[in-house]
Amino acid sequence: MAATPNKSTGGPALDVQRIRADFPILQQKVHDERPLIYLDNAATSQKPQLVIDALTTYYTQYNANVHRALHYLGEQATARYEAVRKKVADFIGAGDSGTVVFTRGTTESINLVARAWGAARLQAGDEIIVTGMEHHSNIIPWQLCCRERGARLRWVELLPDGTLDLEQYREVLNERTRLVAMTHVSNVLGTLNPVAAMAHEAHQIGACVVVDGAQSVPYLPVNVAALDVDFFAFSGHKCGGPTGAGVCWIRRERLAEMEPFMGGGEMIERVHDDDATWAEPPYKFEAGTPNIADVIALGAALEYLEGLGMEAVHTYEQALTTYALDTLAALPGVRIFGSAPERGGAVSFAVEGLHPHDLSQYVDQHGIAIRAGHLCAQPLMRRLGVPAVSRASLSYYNTTAEIDALAASIRRAQKFFGHG
Ligand SMILES: *Cc1c(COP(=O)(O)O)cnc(C)c1O
Repeated sequence: MAATPNKSTGGPALDVQRIRADFPILQQKVHDERPLIYLDNAATSQKPQLVIDALTTYYTQYNANVHRALHYLGEQATARYEAVRKKVADFIGAGDSGTVVFTRGTTESINLVARAWGAARLQAGDEIIVTGMEHHSNIIPWQLCCRERGARLRWVELLPDGTLDLEQYREVLNERTRLVAMTHVSNVLGTLNPVAAMAHEAHQIGACVVVDGAQSVPYLPVNVAALDVDFFAFSGHKCGGPTGAGVCWIRRERLAEMEPFMGGGEMIERVHDDDATWAEPPYKFEAGTPNIADVIALGAALEYLEGLGMEAVHTYEQALTTYALDTLAALPGVRIFGSAPERGGAVSFAVEGLHPHDLSQYVDQHGIAIRAGHLCAQPLMRRLGVPAVSRASLSYYNTTAEIDALAASIRRAQKFFGHG
């Protein structure tokens, strides 16, 4: 199969070989001169050259602090930093760039909501709903928040295919529910959750909705207005951007309800000896010098994705994911976790008789990077009845040939370890 599996669907095909040339890291060989096969994209994505260039251009040409200096460099840095806020707003369909708060990533964004909104709005007896497929980043902040506020955590369970049990969701949703926290796309099962429908039900009883978009923003076109949620978090480093820059989108009405997150420079209006007044959002939530270079480079990453077209990226990755599921499921002794009809590019699996860590070390010798472990989702591992899984996660620069290479490497591992 060629590297353009989306031809049959009629969408604009991606020229994957041309795209791969934009990623210097994909040109290298690892171990005994093996071409790198990077299938750990759900952990972090690789970066195109223009993102790397954006970082060095900032440091070589206009490094200065933002929002403070009234000089040439400071004005350039501020203008470019603020231009990314507008770009992010457009990219996720937010419209109003004043609702885009820059953070270090998904984890910090969710902690921001838990502290700044949770501390202001939650009381003893209130309930927070999370789902059985959440990343620890969308569990721990709510456990901490519950402990602090005397609130209670409730769980939405999964059906055998790895989708959420929506009937049981309706049972746990009640007049004490203040917040529903859910992932858009699972980093383990791949499941794409019906966020808009679930948010609609939460809103009907007056609860707010926070969405972990770490796996959806790199995979499909996202529109926060259409999802009609209250908070939406994602990490730039999973979308081709650098580490250290992410986003917390916050609905206008919610912004007004929130206390500060961290205190310090940039987030104040006026400071008296005993108290202070706050800057307007989003600056109220961006204390201290931000990751200026990383945010500007995130802007370059989003431009790159816009250039490819998120519809085309999505179509290509969907076809590639289907190919990976079919190829791996056809291997003897391989079991795939999750068979949701609508899904993202994370494919988790077990190989009978092989520990995930042994398997990932084995395929690494062939230059193939996959992930093994609990994938930051121990409550989900318990529900699946396993301590760990193996995961191949795909991006638009991966090819069917790379998936074939993974399948061949798994077969060799089975022979090597005497299970197949
Ligand atoms: C990666 C990931 C996170 C955490 O993102 P950070 O960039 O480490 O903050 C949270 N949720 C999901 C679903 C993820 O895949």
